[in-house]
Amino acid sequence: MIEDRGPNGDKPRILIVGGVAGGASCATRARRLSEKAKIILFERGPYVSFANCGLPYYVGDIISGEQKLIVATPQLFRDRFNIDVRLEHNVVSIDRTKQEIEVEDLKTSNRYREKYDALVLAPGASPIRPALPGINLPGIYSLRTIPDSRDIRNWIVQHNARKAVIVGGGFIGLEMAENLVRRGISVTIIEMQNHVMPALDYEMAVPVGSHLLANGVSLNLGDAVAEFQQNVDGNLAVKTKLGKSFTTDLTILAIGIRPEISLAQNAGLDIGVRGGIRVDDRMRTSDEHIWAVGDAVEVHDYVTEEWTNIPLAGPANRQGRIAAGTILGRDFKFRGVQSTAVCGVFGLTIASTGLTENAIKRLSDSGKKINYDKVYLYPGHHASYYPGAKNMAMKLMFSTEDGRVLGAQAVGEEGTDKRIDVISMAIQSGATVYDLEEAELCYAPQFGAAKDPFNIAGMIAANALRGDSPTFHWEDMANTKAFILDVRNPSEYAAGHIEGAINIPLNELRSRINELPSDGEILTYCTVGQRSYYAARALRLNNFNARNISGGMYTYEKMEPAK
Ligand SMILES: Cc1cc2nc3c(=O)[nH]c(=O)nc-3n(C[C@H](O)[C@H](O)[C@H](O)COP(=O)(O)OP(=O)(O)OC[C@H]3O[C@@H](n4cnc5c(N)ncnc54)[C@H](O)[C@@H]3O)c2cc1C
Repeated sequence: MIEDRGPNGDKPRILIVGGVAGGASCATRARRLSEKAKIILFERGPYVSFANCGLPYYVGDIISGEQKLIVATPQLFRDRFNIDVRLEHNVVSIDRTKQEIEVEDLKTSNRYREKYDALVLAPGASPIRPALPGINLPGIYSLRTIPDSRDIRNWIVQHNARKAVIVGGGFIGLEMAENLVRRGISVTIIEMQNHVMPALDYEMAVPVGSHLLANGVSLNLGDAVAEFQQNVDGNLAVKTKLGKSFTTDLTILAIGIRPEISLAQNAGLDIGVRGGIRVDDRMRTSDEHIWAVGDAVEVHDYVTEEWTNIPLAGPANRQGRIAAGTILGRDFKFRGVQSTAVCGVFGLTIASTGLTENAIKRLSDSGKKINYDKVYLYPGHHASYYPGAKNMAMKLMFSTEDGRVLGAQAVGEEGTDKRIDVISMAIQSGATVYDLEEAELCYAPQFGAAKDPFNIAGMIAANALRGDSPTFHWEDMANTKAFILDVRNPSEYAAGHIEGAINIPLNELRSRINELPSDGEILTYCTVGQRSYYAARALRLNNFNARNISGGMYTYEKMEPAK
């Protein structure tokens, strides 16, 4: 708490470095907690509090005009909050002994010092620009600031850009793909992983890739950029490690970010294992007078308690609030991050929260084993009898020890984000799949179902944990000698089925039950796993050892080559 510790006992000085998500939140929250503090916000760029998340949509002309990206101006900060915002002022160093920072006014090159009682670092992150041959050729951009988006827009117009290469198929890469296509530019995404959206598990990302292809985006997966070369006609050739070459008028680098830690590092503050400024749960650094928030820090993962660096606007804003609170004597703690994220591309919503299966496996490899299971489901986003129901793909991860929800991913259209948001809250409350089963959610036919997808996910998982309907997963198929029972209709079976599977449609199951082996295991499947669940239950009640293959054919078709 600094309220009573300011120089001369009055006006404690809170200095904030970085004036966007984390910094601006911290500044305004500090003012709401103290009328007395002197608050100065230093921002080296030309704007304070702008909407970085809107930049791809400005490039794509959905957001018209730069002014729409500016959430607040220095004038508003001054008039409404009595906060001194200094744009184009770069903080160059911290003198921890004297509790001073050195600032350069970038317009005049004048340098000066300011004293602090509390210093908050919110310098964000910088886009990764790998040291590849040709990386500094014209026409290769990253997107982080309003000037970046302006440069990209100008380049498109001045060079009549018709073809673009996007390096990186994550959130920003996909948003840029959609927005460049919207401007009539044909786009190729080069992605090192074997699927787009590396933050998702393979089988959940497959429909995203198909959707991009259906919308005219070309994908070059499992390959990385090796170099950029200038062609004689002025455009670039992007050469890949696998020997491919893509001619392009515009290249966007969207391969991730690095926490901006130089100030902190030069000041001798602790830097963590993930390369971010190390803070405690009150956002305080290793110096008791210095706090840090946002993309620059590493914090605990809420589910695993491991250190992590999650560059998202929500955590940055919340951390800014918490830093302001703890600076001004409130007992606030940051709970950790859950990686709750959403992205829209060509009408598809891709959302996730908590741990993916990949993340769980990586943790296991590093010695932190989590006993988990998963379920797949493909529910409608609202009641099927109401016109317009669209299916979404969902994957839920949960602990087999206590049923605690560990993570979820969903890909669909309307209502997809809502389900992941509710699961995110469930994770933060320490909820189990039994809580999901019992959750009471609002329902009318155009919004959901009496058994919401959220409830159904919990029911399937709870049925598995209770042993009522144990699940089986496609990737284990090679290791089983079980009898495979396809319970779809003959026409569905004829259109494609698992090798060796026997077809007994669900409605004939009871009358043909004597065709099934009474010893050994039976694995049931259908299109999405619902009819085969009914079949597995009926068989188990008739003393067969049956398990349901989670997610049915829909999941199977997406597993290549993960099987
Ligand atoms: C194109 C794009 C789209 C995004 N979309 C989403 C989204 O949809 N959802 C989501 O959750 N997140 C999204 N993000 C991420 C989100 O914007 C960031 O996580 C968030 O802005 C981080 O806030 P921050 O305060 O840590 O850093 P920033 O918002 O980057 O602010 C840091 C500021 O500090 C300034 N600064 C740095 N060093 C100094 C210094 N020494 N002196 C003075 N000033 C300094 C920088 O100029 C910068 O303006 C997106 C990011 C980008 C780039």
